[in-house]
Amino acid sequence: MRCPFCGNIDTQVKDSRPAEDHVSIRRRRFCPACSGRFTTYERVQLRDLVVIKTNGRREDFDRDKLERSIRIAMQKRPVEPERIDQMISGIVRRLESMGETDIPSKQIGEIVMEALARIDTVAYVRFASVYKNFQAADDFDKFVSELRPGAADK
Ligand SMILES: [Zn+2]
Repeated sequence: MRCPFCGNIDTQVKDSRPAEDHVSIRRRRFCPACSGRFTTYERVQLRDLVVIKTNGRREDFDRDKLERSIRIAMQKRPVEPERIDQMISGIVRRLESMGETDIPSKQIGEIVMEALARIDTVAYVRFASVYKNFQAADDFDKFVSELRPGAADK
């Protein structure tokens, strides 16, 4: 990290600690060239989140895919679109604040199911029943295609 005072790039980390409820890491740095001290914050960026599939493969987290699967599960349910938006944002915030960039797909599925269960039981059952197969197949596109309204209501 470049020193903001003298431009030296060889600065040292003196101290690292979690800040803001573990959403970020605060690092105190020291520049040996000018004795300057400064602080940096490190936080997870959503675009850097990586999904670890059950077979060990890694894939960039895709918010659109997550949103699509949730919207399909919620289709024709009496829940206001704003509430669904809030739920999706809440899930994403939770993922971002976990402090890890690598997140097992299983954990994401569990967070989604937990959120759905609180909002709508039918949507939860739809998602959960397909999710079981999804873990076996471990193929998100297949998952989305199976997650059609009515599939779990039969
Ligand atoms: Zn310096």
